[in-house]
Amino acid sequence: QGEPVFANPRNAAAGSLRQLDSKAAAGRGLSLFIFSLQNEEDFSLATHGEILRYLKSLGFPVLPFSVVTGEEALSAITALGESRGDVDYAIDGAVLAVDALALRRQLGSTARAPRWSVAYKFPAEEKKTRLRAITIQVGRTGVLTPAAELEPVRLAGTTVSKASLHNEDFIAERDIRVGDMVWVRKAGEIIPEVIGVERKERPEGTVPFQMPKSCPSCGEKVRRMEGEAATRCVSPECPAQLLRGVEHFASRQAMDIEGLGPALVQSLHEHGLLQTSAADLYYLEKEDVAALPRMGPKAAQNLMDGIEKSKTRPLSRLLVALGIPQVGQKAAYVLAQTFPTMDALCAAGREELAQVPDIGPITADNIVSWLDSEPAKHMLARLAQAGVNMTEPVVESPSGGALAGKTVVITGTLPGMTREEAAERVVLAGGQVSSAVSKKTNFLLAGEKAGSKLAKAEKLGIPVISFETFLQMLEEEPTNS
Ligand SMILES: [Zn+2]
Repeated sequence: QGEPVFANPRNAAAGSLRQLDSKAAAGRGLSLFIFSLQNEEDFSLATHGEILRYLKSLGFPVLPFSVVTGEEALSAITALGESRGDVDYAIDGAVLAVDALALRRQLGSTARAPRWSVAYKFPAEEKKTRLRAITIQVGRTGVLTPAAELEPVRLAGTTVSKASLHNEDFIAERDIRVGDMVWVRKAGEIIPEVIGVERKERPEGTVPFQMPKSCPSCGEKVRRMEGEAATRCVSPECPAQLLRGVEHFASRQAMDIEGLGPALVQSLHEHGLLQTSAADLYYLEKEDVAALPRMGPKAAQNLMDGIEKSKTRPLSRLLVALGIPQVGQKAAYVLAQTFPTMDALCAAGREELAQVPDIGPITADNIVSWLDSEPAKHMLARLAQAGVNMTEPVVESPSGGALAGKTVVITGTLPGMTREEAAERVVLAGGQVSSAVSKKTNFLLAGEKAGSKLAKAEKLGIPVISFETFLQMLEEEPTNS
């Protein structure tokens, strides 16, 4: 029906039930098994077996079950596991439960689960199939990832024709070759992976796998860095990286542009509407979009609306969208709270960034070199010009705390507390943490080996307090000054 395929049966069922339109959910062809009765006390039933038989007599579908002794339990589970291929639904395990309801009530439950039942998970299902080809995908950061193209095989309730091969070393260690019969494993929702080769069945004429020397997307030479498993395309003008980058930019945790999926990104690129960066999105003309295959005026308007709406996302989302190495959702949020405008962030130096909780020196380096690069500067300028929001609403500190309205700078080594923990305490007490000493600083919390910040505070006449004093201040009543 032209809609994306669900990753697995569980997502299909959960996604269908979440549909707002119950008719749409009904149309998905879901079925169910009933396995318990909520108000069992209201029925004069003594065991779970009786409950299931009663439900069945009412016409409810009930899963096959057996009542066994402790000694028989394991062989019953094994038998169930062996029957997995014979039923038309996926089974990932068995539940072992106490049958007598009176005993269950006696056993009770912990905060998280009943004490009278335990789940047994079958090992991940493995099957053998032919490896037809190894294809290479180029990711957003230029990493080349090999994927296995398989002769389709039924595995854990789904048909598998693609599986992960991780990286070059993974393939070399197992000597996986195109044409081999390979073992494929899939556990629940995990992406299927090739785990090994059936050597006895290797056909003649196979050759060891070699990573391509050039990028399958742009043709530039690829590189493998010392000590890294990944092979990368480092070309700044690689279409695959551009497309994956734009998909990431538009994704839900980033700028959340509705309706802009991989197929449309590809189409925009193929028709010359997406050439340099995600900033191109904000310069699209509705007529051009409408003229794309399978689009039309209505779909084009929806996309334009989605793009327009994305202009108002807070800075933290934009930071996620930019795809700066090691800047995920959490780091982006902390950065935007500390530097609530893009200008402030761009003006921050390595040391200042490294002081921010959760941002280490490596991430700080990544941020600075990313923001300093010409393509990034160009992209940010075009985003700003298009009216994309570059500010973050800063969360108000609780008023009335012991440090309400105070700006604190923390430096040096504190006894028994990291600087990040101390910063958290400041925020919880209603204060603000700043990374640099200025005239606006109310006081400097200085631990052991305090350096240039201490000198600067003394020069500016900013009060310097010890860790002990800091702890006392946190205990004190709110100040009114
Ligand atoms: Zn490339």
